[in-house]
Amino acid sequence: MKVISIFAENNCSICQRSTTNKRSGLVFRRKINITMEVDEENQQQCPLLDSNIWRTRSTVTSCNSFMLQNKVACDITFTLGSEGQEVVAHKYVLISRSPVFYAMFCGPVAESSNVISVPDIEPDIFQFLLSYLYCDDDSVVDSDSVMALLYAAKKYSIYSLEDVCKQFLKDNICFDNACLILEQSHAFDEKDLYEECLKFIWKNGEEILEMSCVKDLCEKCMQDIIASDALNADEKLVYECVVSWSEIQCIKKKMEVNDQNQREVLSNILYHVRFPLMPLSYFADHVSEKQILSPEEKLNLYKYLCQSRSGAVTPFISRYRSKKTSLHCKRFKGMVDSSDWVQKGKKDAVSFSCSVPILMHGVCMYRSGLTGAPYDIRLELYDESDNQLTCVHRTEDTIESTVEGRFLFPVLFDQPLKILSCSYYTIVVKMIGPKSFYGERGRKKVVCGNVTFEFISAPNRSTNSTNVFTGQIPVILFSPWL
Ligand SMILES: [Zn+2]
Repeated sequence: MKVISIFAENNCSICQRSTTNKRSGLVFRRKINITMEVDEENQQQCPLLDSNIWRTRSTVTSCNSFMLQNKVACDITFTLGSEGQEVVAHKYVLISRSPVFYAMFCGPVAESSNVISVPDIEPDIFQFLLSYLYCDDDSVVDSDSVMALLYAAKKYSIYSLEDVCKQFLKDNICFDNACLILEQSHAFDEKDLYEECLKFIWKNGEEILEMSCVKDLCEKCMQDIIASDALNADEKLVYECVVSWSEIQCIKKKMEVNDQNQREVLSNILYHVRFPLMPLSYFADHVSEKQILSPEEKLNLYKYLCQSRSGAVTPFISRYRSKKTSLHCKRFKGMVDSSDWVQKGKKDAVSFSCSVPILMHGVCMYRSGLTGAPYDIRLELYDESDNQLTCVHRTEDTIESTVEGRFLFPVLFDQPLKILSCSYYTIVVKMIGPKSFYGERGRKKVVCGNVTFEFISAPNRSTNSTNVFTGQIPVILFSPWL
């Protein structure tokens, strides 16, 4: 005895209830569950299957669903998963939905057998795949099935299902799965999804770097996380994370866990830890004690940390991560939130001086109201005491992340610049891209902690109308000169 379900519009004396298909959302007018004897060998002989009830005025998808569920006229068998469980289907549907199935059944080297072994897909996932192919049923994609379905969709080049899976993953990135999705999207070479994951991880850096899942990431994923200026995490945490990660890597590679081997597995990753930004006390107590850095590297870093903290300490990166570590000197009281400021390559400029020496990391600029707007940017700094160009930074980027608020983005020098007190400097920015927002009610004097900034217009350098009261360059990013 077997329960079979059929769908029909007309009332039926044996009808039990009408129902909505929860997975597809399709409303079937009547679902009839009948317990009856079915000849498994030859279902076409079954009188109910031979009746027209299930076809009459049914939709294509409901007929497809019936055909699949009741194995009507199937002509191909798949043996699935490690146990080789059989699932039957119809070549016609598969061929019509997937170029891989088309090649498999109709191509020049088509399968001659009607039994196909698919050991890398489990039966329940293959059934979901079939539900999608037969009925466009995208509700089969959920948190349990999505990874395996993405794999299956890629294997059979079912691009629409791939898109559904990727969108589901993008919409559901969270602390628990961010590392897993990152690693899977790396394995599947899904660049958009990979970027989305990275953004989530960078934004929530402090929390994510403390999670154990980070330690299982591959070298590329780990490097992409900690190499970014957008990573929102303290350098001490970054260092501790990569040390823990290197211990796991040693174990995976069957190497003894010691400083020398950890250094070996860390390779270039080590140079993405921004040791020059660490407090001297932490460096002395926690970093210099281990032999992960060479004696020469430690000496160079000691000199840097004890002395200037400006300039380069090759090969280490001394640039501040944009979101976390810089102080902000904001010179405007207001912002005009319509994209009116023309950015066609003329120069926005403003001069400033500060009451005590600082390290300048860069500036924030207003962006366009459009998301993902591309800008070609050249940032210059002039020392007006000797009229010399001190630094040039060039970047070409699609601006999405913002340092704070939705309308600002950071432009950072590669290394912080030492700014002396009581001397005027001029920031000059040339931007090419969409029109941007701009500031208004600029202040001549801004007090930021123990630093007083004084701003004046730079009419001889500013060709795009920015001055002390209005325009671009709303924020100076800096830190105290220790
Ligand atoms: Zn990876």
